[in-house]
Amino acid sequence: MIRTLEAIVGEINKVKNIIVVGHIMPDGDDISSVLALTMGLEKIGKNVRAVIDDDIPGYLEEFPFVKEKIKSYDCISKFPAELIISVDASSPDRIGRVYDHFKFARSIVIDHHATNTYFGNVNWVDKFGATAQMVLRLNKMLEVEYDEDLATVNLLGIATDTGFFKYSNTDAVVFEDVAWLVKNGGNIGLISNMILENKPLEHLLLYKDFLNEMKIDNNIAYSHITLDMLNKYDILPKDSPSFVGELRSIKGIEVAITFSEGEPNVYHVSMRSKDWFDVSKVAVAFGGGGHPRAAGFSKETDNLEKLEKETVNAIKNLMESYEK
Ligand code: AMP
Ligand code: MN
Ligand code: MN
Repeated sequence: MIRTLEAIVGEINKVKNIIVVGHIMPDGDDISSVLALTMGLEKIGKNVRAVIDDDIPGYLEEFPFVKEKIKSYDCISKFPAELIISVDASSPDRIGRVYDHFKFARSIVIDHHATNTYFGNVNWVDKFGATAQMVLRLNKMLEVEYDEDLATVNLLGIATDTGFFKYSNTDAVVFEDVAWLVKNGGNIGLISNMILENKPLEHLLLYKDFLNEMKIDNNIAYSHITLDMLNKYDILPKDSPSFVGELRSIKGIEVAITFSEGEPNVYHVSMRSKDWFDVSKVAVAFGGGGHPRAAGFSKETDNLEKLEKETVNAIKNLMESYEK
């Protein structure tokens, strides 16, 4: 790990103009990693463009520095990047059109997904709870000085990817990093207020419909959110809430799945497991990726019921092969 980090620091020291890119369908760790790395690189005098080739959901768009620093794809069209750093993305398709620019610059991949395809010139893929923890290590190695703002944006990803310090990826290193960030001004109260205590009423109303559509098959719970369901409450697809954690929380459920229509007939499938089942294996089989307890894929179909059946059956088949 130290050698890869040193190689990354060497690449950064050689250049001035850097693109930092996060993944499409951005989550808290993605936004946090992009922001913390961008702000860190700026503090040491680099010229940085932070880009995500997708819309940012409302609850993250309101987070400090997001609107100011993270731009859409167009912002890099004329930027003479010498180095591109991808964070929290497991494969090229996850960074959208920004991957086209890998032809013209050196590239670094920093990620914590075991399903990573090592698509950069230098790849640091490691088993951390959040990519934001890897950015923290890189910033420290670059001798970036932390203030309240940087500590808070860096803390965001660790909080969200560990489900606010309760998933099984919440190890001692997570708490050590969180303690360090809080000592250096990280504001966990601000993060939990903005992420957990800030739900639009429409999302709760949609939740009623989502529960009406829920099906339970042994230890698997699943439901869907279609564009029609979103339209009923004037919710934009980019702001579509994730209820997959609520399904997983049901007693006796091992695997939870949600099917969310983002564009007509295109579904994002989110899977979560509670205790023993590896959902990333199913995600990879359907062309996606992720972690053992949280993974996903996207699929185009005009037959949602069939997609649901296929997904549930794939999980059941894999479950049978486990020796519990
Ligand atoms: P989600 O269900 O979208 O919250 O994603 C759960 C985890 O799976 C996250 O770590 C994502 O980065 C990963 N993931 C989701 N969709 C995909 C995909 N299409 N390809 C690769 N990884 C994915
Ligand atoms: Mn992510
Ligand atoms: Mn992550």
